[in-house]
Amino acid sequence: MQVTKHKVTIIDYTLKDNDGKTLDKSSDGNFAYIHGTNSIIPGLENALEGKEPGDDLSVRIEPKDAYGERDLANIQKVPRDMFPADIDIKPDMQFQAQTQDGKPLFVKVTAVEGDEIVVDGNHPLAGVDLNFDITIVDVRDASEEEIEHGHVHNPADEDH
Ligand code: ZN
Repeated sequence: MQVTKHKVTIIDYTLKDNDGKTLDKSSDGNFAYIHGTNSIIPGLENALEGKEPGDDLSVRIEPKDAYGERDLANIQKVPRDMFPADIDIKPDMQFQAQTQDGKPLFVKVTAVEGDEIVVDGNHPLAGVDLNFDITIVDVRDASEEEIEHGHVHNPADEDH
């Protein structure tokens, strides 16, 4: 069975940056998604389209087909008093904020400048080429319920 729209697709993968550093990894068939539902990055969906169980592929996905380019507009200075007073704010700390339309946004502290904190709201993988080594583990039809929910159900969690 080929990877096409609304197939539950299970892959093992290793994700590396251009320096060969491993950024993420899934083995033993732990990563499953429903193809054609925008639940993974577009470049990866395109690369997997039409593949079959047992196929191996290596692909490099550019930021425009992944998490986008880094946008300097997402780096902002915010007043110290927008953060909890009882936390010692330091670079590399991560906080959940909200966008103006109320969506959750993870920001990383990049600098502390007196009573101002510099935060970066870019996705950690923005601007990064993603090098995937992938094996297709399994492909099956998604159930109507899975398509409705937009995620894969495991036999173990029949409870929602
Ligand atoms: Zn569900």
